Amino acid sequence: MAWHFGGKKKDMPDGLWIRCDECGKTVYKKDVESSLRVCPECGFHFSLDSAQRIAITLDPASFSELFADLAPQDPLGFVDREPYTDRLKRYADSTGLKDAMVVGTGAIQGWKVAFGTMDTRFMMGSLGSVMGEKIYRLAEVAANQRVPLILVCGSGGARMQEGVVSLMQMVKTSAAIALCQEAGVGSISLLTNPTTGGTTASFATEADVIIAEPGALIGFTGPRVIEETIKQKLPEGFQKSEFLLEHGLVDMIVPRSEIRQVLGELVQYLRAEDAPPRSEKAQDGEGEKSGPAEVIGSPDKTPGDNSEEHKNQEGGAETSA
Ligand SMILES: [Zn+2]
Repeated sequence: MAWHFGGKKKDMPDGLWIRCDECGKTVYKKDVESSLRVCPECGFHFSLDSAQRIAITLDPASFSELFADLAPQDPLGFVDREPYTDRLKRYADSTGLKDAMVVGTGAIQGWKVAFGTMDTRFMMGSLGSVMGEKIYRLAEVAANQRVPLILVCGSGGARMQEGVVSLMQMVKTSAAIALCQEAGVGSISLLTNPTTGGTTASFATEADVIIAEPGALIGFTGPRVIEETIKQKLPEGFQKSEFLLEHGLVDMIVPRSEIRQVLGELVQYLRAEDAPPRSEKAQDGEGEKSGPAEVIGSPDKTPGDNSEEHKNQEGGAETSA
């Protein structure tokens, strides 16, 4: 696209165009949203919030949120540029979430699953006590209900404001994956851009099947720090999905447009012998397009809206470390 705006910002209607992080081109926002937030120029996968991710992945109206009342506390009384409690409130106000992960049960092509997705809008999807607790409880749901566990990852790593409590979540989430494996239910992680730090170093890369979105940054530490440490230049494309597929960390790369189909096949393959049957209702509607684009265009819709089940869980805000 050969658009030049000549620096006159007032000529460009607000919010109609966005700049692609990858190719640098200015693209029509509607085109991006109608293609599941993928750049029409280069195929870059823009981030999705938790509601959008649920909408494009699960069968329509199948998601029931769990443990939505879990909220972080501030065990260290941590203050950096601002108190942790203020920061939490700021992100809660802007996202409508209590923390950086939404979990629950849902269906993919009629197969019931335990599903969790991180939301990078909330403190870069950092791994703290609430995320660790939600992942562990979701693994228990998967094991008890005999359904596969699917975790969509997008994270800047451990939540520094929770210090050692955050680091403990690496152990806890690893135990969650192990719980599924011992129970004989499958686990799948979908790594999106970016998945880094303690998230990569724990549950994100321990699932039975590890899928990545195209071009996602996946790693532990940033390339600059690694180069300074090992005093070597890193190869081209290091820490991108394609490089990691070639080197065996990732099992497959799946474009967003195919993810529901691929997950449906995997879930069918991975399901436990005593898994619940495929729901008839979803089978009937299988052929119809679930219209992710229309949900993508409705960012106001929060995943908590259709939640019934979480009301049965322990009420009130709590910490989970
Ligand atoms: Zn692009």
